[in-house]
Amino acid sequence: MFADRLKTVEEKIEKACEKAGRDRREVTLIAVSKTNPAEAVREAFDAGQRDFGENKAQEMVAKKEACPEEIRWHFIGNLQKNKVKYVVGNAVMIHSVSSVSLAEEIERIAAKKSVIVPVLAEVNIADESTKHGIGREDAIALVRAMGEMPHLSVKGLMCIAPPVEDPEENRGYFRAMRELKDEINALNLPGVSLSELSMGMSGDYSVAVEEGATLIRVGTALFGARHYPQD
Ligand SMILES: *Cc1c(COP(=O)(O)O)cnc(C)c1O
Repeated sequence: MFADRLKTVEEKIEKACEKAGRDRREVTLIAVSKTNPAEAVREAFDAGQRDFGENKAQEMVAKKEACPEEIRWHFIGNLQKNKVKYVVGNAVMIHSVSSVSLAEEIERIAAKKSVIVPVLAEVNIADESTKHGIGREDAIALVRAMGEMPHLSVKGLMCIAPPVEDPEENRGYFRAMRELKDEINALNLPGVSLSELSMGMSGDYSVAVEEGATLIRVGTALFGARHYPQD
């Protein structure tokens, strides 16, 4: 049951906040519903969950149409430029901006729709060649560029930490994310004041919260194992 899993996750978040001396209200739990049907989202909604994450543009839009309007949809996946039009205006935040050219496309569509899009820069903090996101130096350049785009509101940084057995192995990466955020804020770039850190997944969200996460993206710990189609 979603409600039981939510209770377990909530207890762990509270414990991590307590340990770090943080207020629970600083952390938003995003339930990553990708591959799960709209029915699962509605069950989660009935259990009190309001923030959901999706990594495919059309899947997000389809679920949005089938689910209560109070839901806040976060886009967390690799976004192709031809799919930007589905996400802008439908997602409350795009977590996964990983290039200036993608940011420019979001800006173009947002201007056309007359909306402001909250965005995060996705950082490849562990420097893994298999991951999307950009290195620390490029992240600074990307944030600077987004700060100058009138229809983007650059809110912070996002990372996908490596899959590990022991979440403690990722503590250093989460800390490096927080330091990078502080470093960028200290530059006082025009239009840039970063407050959000989107980091931590089912295996390591407690450690991420201890290190300053404000948005945690939790899938399997809330919905159970994902079922990908066979074809
Ligand atoms: C799938 C996904 C998650 C959730 O992963 P779990 O390990 O199931 O919690 C978080 N973030 C992103 C970007 C994802 O694609």
